[in-house]
Amino acid sequence: MNYDDANIFAKILRGEIPNETVMETDHALAFRDINPQAPNHVLVIPKGKYVSFDDFAANADPAEIVDFIRTVGAIASAEGLALKDGGDGFRLISNAGKNGVQEVPHFHVHILGGRWLGRMLKKPEGE
Ligand code: AMP
Repeated sequence: MNYDDANIFAKILRGEIPNETVMETDHALAFRDINPQAPNHVLVIPKGKYVSFDDFAANADPAEIVDFIRTVGAIASAEGLALKDGGDGFRLISNAGKNGVQEVPHFHVHILGGRWLGRMLKKPEGE
């Protein structure tokens, strides 16, 4: 799948639309989800043009991958969710493609926490 420069996170990275930044590094940007599903709901995206987790894992430089993973961990700490800091925990989600129900085709990880999040997956209605 080719990267679509018109996706909304590409526009955020270009500064064309606003975002509520939580953290920025050389290779990553973290900002609050516009439609939060939990008291803490932060999105972390690489600054590079990667469509999905698999694209990022295969094609990003090691420096980008380390920076991204460290940023996700730093957000969990900064939001007070990290176990190592005595937090109550969190969930990471990265949706990919049609079956993963990915809306924005720029790789991102959701960090969710601040309440009990329930079972990991529910079957869709009617299944
Ligand atoms: P996904 O289904 O994993 O692609 O989810 C995309 C997420 O991006 C959703 O949770 C949206 O609420 C969120 N989102 C869409 N537009 C924006 C925006 N302008 N700022 C922050 N979050 C956004």
